[in-house]
Amino acid sequence: MNEELLQRVLASPRLPSLPAVALKVIELVQQEDVELDEIAAAVKNDPALTARILKTVNSSYYGQAGLVTGVNQALVVLGLRTVKTVALGFSLVPNLQQSAEDGEGFDHISYWKRSLLSATAAKMFADNAGSRFTEEAFLGGLLQDMGMIAMHQVLGEDYEAVTDSAGGHHTALAAAEKEQLGVTHAEVGEQLAHSWNLPALLGYAIRGHHTLLDTPADPEAQDEAGAADFVARCVAIGNLVAEVFVRSAAVSGETLKKLQERAETWFGLTPDATEPLLIQIHEVTAEMQRLFELPAGNLGDAGEILQAANEALLKLSMRQHQQTQQLLEDATTDALTKLSNRRAFDQDLDKRFSLARAGAPLSVIFTDVDHFKNFNDSHGHAVGDAVLIAFAQTLKEAVGVAGTVYRYGGEEFAVLCPGVTRRVAAELAERTRHQVAATCNVPSDTGAKLGVTCSLGVACHDGTTFSRSEVLMKAADRAVYAAKDAGRNRVRVFTPHSESTAEAA
Ligand code: GH3
Ligand code: MG
Ligand code: MG
Repeated sequence: MNEELLQRVLASPRLPSLPAVALKVIELVQQEDVELDEIAAAVKNDPALTARILKTVNSSYYGQAGLVTGVNQALVVLGLRTVKTVALGFSLVPNLQQSAEDGEGFDHISYWKRSLLSATAAKMFADNAGSRFTEEAFLGGLLQDMGMIAMHQVLGEDYEAVTDSAGGHHTALAAAEKEQLGVTHAEVGEQLAHSWNLPALLGYAIRGHHTLLDTPADPEAQDEAGAADFVARCVAIGNLVAEVFVRSAAVSGETLKKLQERAETWFGLTPDATEPLLIQIHEVTAEMQRLFELPAGNLGDAGEILQAANEALLKLSMRQHQQTQQLLEDATTDALTKLSNRRAFDQDLDKRFSLARAGAPLSVIFTDVDHFKNFNDSHGHAVGDAVLIAFAQTLKEAVGVAGTVYRYGGEEFAVLCPGVTRRVAAELAERTRHQVAATCNVPSDTGAKLGVTCSLGVACHDGTTFSRSEVLMKAADRAVYAAKDAGRNRVRVFTPHSESTAEAA
């Protein structure tokens, strides 16, 4: 960590400070047997804070519209935990707001928009999980990025250059800060929280909002570390919610995906359960914006934003699915002939071999182009390639639905014919031989048609004929050799009583 810069930021005289009243309230709330009157007395010392607490308790979010007029009553309705948040939030936010606005070139509108959305989302995810740390989650969300304000105050344009280099993408920002400055806004934020004596778990949540593991959040955790970990996850997911609502549809597909994944692994929420929560978060954020009187700008229409994000996500998953399919296909397709390749053949052969039985035998036709080397030697490699392409095409047409054609290697091809008997496979091989000899040709440089022929070998497995698929292939291969020996452009069929020869070969 860049300690020197960190100290420079923390020592800046222009940093926001926590007012004495807020400090007093926080201190009181943390005491074991504090009297409510004591807290009320402290709050009343600050008229602005008093006004805001009354406004909060009477907001539609807390459901007490216009009924509460005294601070004591407000504290009873809100409860100590909420009072602590409200005191902290309302004391700090105006200070931070002033600092943010003073920082020329600092985009304070987006800053507050993201902070409010994150805070509300963090609180509502915590609430949804049944945690009692909802207020801490809210504050963590609200304060998570205050390190940005501090860094901007100290570094000015230099800090803007770093934020620009992250392309306005908040998740890329921490990495850019680490690389270019040696310290992140999350680390600065934690130190600020520490220097203001904020509860340690807030500091942890602020620091951890960019660096969390993919383990489930534990809403039941009561010890400090467990609770801090839970709150940090609420803040981190709040961040993603803010990204979805703030960023343009072009990137929100990926962010929504990440949000859905984290909602699932951290909080056990399916995308279907997350969506209504997001709509609710958006609504409550508008309410918070009014309470805190923050310049968060227009929050937009939640339904529209989510629809655009969902569409982007759908496109993204379709693209990813296509890419995966393409990779799978590339791995099993021969580039020259576009037939399935040897790898695909070996996989399919094993599958088909184990399924073969008396009523449903597996036939293999193995074939090799005759004197293929001559095409290469006399007309060049390109003509040789053209022969292979034309041969593959003719083979496919001749075999039709009776089997699948594979390029086995070089000028050797194989046909798998499940459910086809030896006799029918022999007929198919003969028909194929004839079709190749009659129709398959390739023009040479001079335009002369170069005819192509092939030799074919047939072998059939009925479930008991061969012990292993390799032996079946050896038998088909031997039949091809027999066809070559007999003068080429012909078919030979392997018959079982000669299996001992195939095994021995
Ligand atoms: P036979 O009738 O006995 O099968 O003779 P052949 O000439 O067909 O057999 P051989 O195995 O001697 O020659 C095969 C040649 O195929 C050798 C190799 O360079 C060539 N070959 C293998 N793959 C390709 C390819 O993808 N493109 C081209 N143009 N040639 C290839
Ligand atoms: Mg050959
Ligand atoms: Mg060969």
